[in-house]
Amino acid sequence: MNTPIINTLLPTSTAGSLPKPSWLAKPETLWSPWKLQGEELIEGKQDALLLSLHEQHQAGIDIVSDGEQTRQHFVTTFIEHLTGVDFENRKTVKIRDRYNASVPTVVGAVSRPKPVFVEEAKFLRQHTNKPIKWTLPGPMTMIDTLYDDHFKSRKKLAWEFAKILNQEAKELASVGVNIIQFDEPAFNVFFDEVNDWGIACLERAIEGLKCETAVHICYGYGIKANTDWKKTLGAEWRQYEEILPKLQKSTIDRISLECHNSHVPIELLELVRGKKVMVGAIDVATNNIETPAEVANTLRKALKYVDADKLYPCTNCGMAPLPRQVANGKLNALSAGAEIIRKELSASS
Ligand SMILES: [Zn+2]
Repeated sequence: MNTPIINTLLPTSTAGSLPKPSWLAKPETLWSPWKLQGEELIEGKQDALLLSLHEQHQAGIDIVSDGEQTRQHFVTTFIEHLTGVDFENRKTVKIRDRYNASVPTVVGAVSRPKPVFVEEAKFLRQHTNKPIKWTLPGPMTMIDTLYDDHFKSRKKLAWEFAKILNQEAKELASVGVNIIQFDEPAFNVFFDEVNDWGIACLERAIEGLKCETAVHICYGYGIKANTDWKKTLGAEWRQYEEILPKLQKSTIDRISLECHNSHVPIELLELVRGKKVMVGAIDVATNNIETPAEVANTLRKALKYVDADKLYPCTNCGMAPLPRQVANGKLNALSAGAEIIRKELSASS
């Protein structure tokens, strides 16, 4: 298999999820139930994946994804495929110290009886020559979305999940996925645990992988629980400062961070100098579509702290909850904004 080569400066990508078509699931809703069943659902998910891919191609996105069209939620869909987790037996827990949710219970040893996303990744690979990025939940974010009645240790359960994620990631790489990204919004909340064992678990999840690896750490989708939480964080969001020094020394290749319209001081990017940085230049918490100039402005600021050959323009987080036209407008703005900076860089070199 030919590995697609990224030969553009500032290759664009998204954090992961994109809106689903309204015939597949209710739009602008998280955990939205499927509107199709059985064979129709399988076919519908594939059609939606192709549509999402087409929209990314149209917008000129350089590193494409499945837009997470085949999963209901970025964490639970993966967990549903594992043994040891009882989805009938639910408990209410506080997710990321922020909001209560009814979650499944870990009742025994956890394992992955068969691949979760490998067939879908193969399908995506067959339909594009561009590099592809695949997202998986990170170990710490997985344990934070469950009630543990078996291991009684967050660290032990996260380590077990890291081993399972590593099996899945290796199979995804073997079918032609170029970048595997682990979503770890929990890294922005539990700093001591991140530094004690969270990053070690992430490194276990990527151990021996032949493809590139990324971690996405954000302030969440633009849903109410998140926007309310953000209001409590003060004028400057310095959460990244707690974890980036150790991530800089880790074996992860890329770090995806929220930068646009956010209260994150942009100079914190200096803490991961040397790593590839997926710079969030699109705000997912608003339906306002950025202008290319606004995107370019964020990228220009980031360039002071990230070397141009390591800067990957991206969205702040997933766009699943946004209206489709808005998400498409934002994809176009991302491409156009990156193009402005490419021209500036080539004019000055
Ligand atoms: Zn995110």
